[in-house]
Order: sequence, then structure tokens, then C-alpha cells
Amino acid sequence: SQLSKDIYKLLIEIGTIADSQGVKIYLIGGIVRDFILNRANEDIDLVIEGDGIAFANLLSERLGGQVKSHEKFGTATWKTTENVKIDIVTCRTEYYDAPAALPNVRASNIREDLRRRDFTINAMALQINKSHFGTLLDFFQGQDDIEQKNIRILHTLSFIEDPTRIIRAVRFALRFHYQLTEQTFTLAIDAVAMLKQVSAKRLLREFELLVKEGSIIEAIKMLDEIGVWTTLLGHSPTEEEIIKVNAILNEIQDPFFLFLTFAYHQKDWKRKVKFFALTARQNQIIQQLEILDEHQKEQLTTIGSIHQQFYNYTEETIFIYTVLTKNEMLHTYLAKRKNVKALLSGRDLIDRGIKPGPVFSNILHQLTCLQLDDQIKTKGEAITWLETNFK
Ligand code: ATP
Repeated sequence: SQLSKDIYKLLIEIGTIADSQGVKIYLIGGIVRDFILNRANEDIDLVIEGDGIAFANLLSERLGGQVKSHEKFGTATWKTTENVKIDIVTCRTEYYDAPAALPNVRASNIREDLRRRDFTINAMALQINKSHFGTLLDFFQGQDDIEQKNIRILHTLSFIEDPTRIIRAVRFALRFHYQLTEQTFTLAIDAVAMLKQVSAKRLLREFELLVKEGSIIEAIKMLDEIGVWTTLLGHSPTEEEIIKVNAILNEIQDPFFLFLTFAYHQKDWKRKVKFFALTARQNQIIQQLEILDEHQKEQLTTIGSIHQQFYNYTEETIFIYTVLTKNEMLHTYLAKRKNVKALLSGRDLIDRGIKPGPVFSNILHQLTCLQLDDQIKTKGEAITWLETNFK
């Protein structure tokens, strides 16, 4: 009853095709958990005790649609003619050559596939072969943990193998209002130092999901109890930093700002933050903040003089800097800059005999400064100013 009729019918068809091949096929992961929780979810992940890619190709032969496969991982995404995306993977076991490294995989059975998963609530499968349609496989007491509101890892090395599961644990705990079991919580603390071994890209992917989830203040505090911030940045965030980062993330949902905000007042903030800056834009923000720090020492007494310095900085950088430094004047500047409207156009300048060239932008820039300082408010005043100063 939680699925649309079309999806339900489709699952039955897929189950029948799997029967014709003599392979077992299961719905897996989040969707099974959400069936039990009565939460909407149509993210269909299927695992098959057989070749996932070959099966996806067979589905597209029989039912149409397109397949994108990733040979290396034995996974495929089948897009149906109705544009429904279905992920199909081969049951697999993961084994780790080193802690926190990416796993090696080999084909296996459903139990082994479930065992490699993050938490008991995410490690249940629902068979969709016709004769067993709807049979729940719950080897690790996921249902009990849903009832008891527990986030529980499946084995004691789980966080060591993949420390990003620590961040996932917090995300699911907050989403469902569950608690980490005592053992899971202790094992998270024991493994937290392993987060240092994880690449920035993988860390940020998990933090991005965390930020999207909302409840970021609670998430930050919970991660702190586990020791995540001390591990990654060398200290716990202060209450003030948490308020600041919340203000930034409300505007820009980018987990990079967690690291920037918490490191910013530290002596070697740039070095710490650089590790988490993956895009050109993030690196530019770091650079611009550094320059802004230098300007901070200069006397900027009017909004116009601030504009002289900062006119070519993006609103984003100034906004972040304003929050980080709690600079009231910059706050006012930003608000005014957003609303300032050009009083004169290039045409107005040409009409008054000024030849087009670099002088144009110079004049318009000066005019904006005067507008920001409320010295010029109307087009008439702007024209008088122009005629007086640029004869
Ligand atoms: P959501 O509702 O946020 O989509 P989900 O449970 O579907 O939650 P996904 O990130 O889509 O989460 O992952 C699908 C499944 O893959 C999970 O339910 C879990 O079984 C498994 N999984 C994902 N990431 C990990 C991980 N780091 N370690 C172990 N298992 C994982």
C-alpha cells in the first residue's frame, strides 16, 4: 500500500522474470526500513544472487528502457520507459585490505551482502520472487532495533572498516529520533581517529547528506560527543561558532562551511581548511577571506569606502566574512549593495559627451559609492554630480 500501483506491478514483473532465470532477487536497504516505518520511499535498490548487470540487460530487453552499467562494481541502473530508476547489484561481500580503505568486493549470497551494510535497520531485505513475494529477511534484528529506536552497527569492526559510518549513524539517529546503542556509541568513539584516514571527498559526501538532513545544530553536538571535530580540526566548536555556521548553512547548504567556520579563528586555519576545499570556488573563498582579514586592519569608516575595497568580492564571500567576524558595518554594506540600483547608464554618459572607455566604469563605480553613502539618491542628483565633476 505504500507503493504506487505501477511500481508494485513492476516489482511483480521483475520477480517473475527473476523466477524465469532461477535467481533470487530482493528489495534492499532504505526502502525496506521505510516500509516498516510507514514512510514514503520509492528509491528502489535491488540485489540479486546472480549477475546484476546481465539481469538489468534482460529487464531492458523484456520491458524496454535503458541500462547503465558499472562493470567494476557489478552494478547497473535500469531506467524504465516510465523513467523510473532502479539500481540492481550483485550480492556481494566486501573485504578490506586496510582500515578506512575502499573495500574489495566479490560476489556472494544475500546474507553476506546484508552483513556488509551499515546498521541493522538498513540491513533487511524483502524478496520479490513471485513465490516468496514480500518475505522479509532480517538476519540482524533490524525490526527489533526499529521498535527500540536503535542505531546499531552489525559487527565490532564496522566503524574501523568505514569510519564515514560514524557520520551516517548521527544522520539516521537524528532523522528518526533514535539513539546509538551503548556499544555502537563506544565503538564510534574508539574508531573516530580513523576519520583522519578518509579522503576529503568521501568525508564531504557524507557531511553533505548530513547538512541536507536538517537539525544541523544537534548533529554538530552529537558529532562532538563522539570526538569528530577534535579529530578533524583539533578542537570542539564553541557555541558561538555553532550559531555562526547555522546562519551560513541556512543560506548556503555546503558542508565545507562547517570546517571553515570551526577552523577560522584558529592560528593556522588556512592550512586546516584547505584540506576540505575541493572546488575552485571554495579555494577562492579562502583566498578572499585572507585578503579581507588584511583589510580589516584598515580604517573603513563609510559604506562607500567599504565598497571601494570590496566591490569585486562576491556577495557570498562578504556574507560569510560578515557572519564569521560579526562585522556590523559589512552587514549593512551587503544589504545596501544588494539593493543599490544604477542611476545612470552608458547612454547618459555618452549623451553628456563622455567618450566610452575605462572611464565609464570608473564614473559608475564612484557613483555607486556615493549612492551607498546616501550622498546621491536620485537620477537628477546623479546628473548634476556628473556634469559638475566630468565636464
Ligand atoms: P536514505 O533514506 O538516506 O536514502 P538509504 O538507507 O537508502 O537512506 P543510501 O545512502 O541510499 O541510504 O544507501 C543504501 C543502502 O546502502 C543503505 O541502506 C545501506 O544498507 C547501504 N550503505 C550505504 N552506505 C553504506 C556504508 N557506508 N556502509 C555500509 N553500508 C552502506
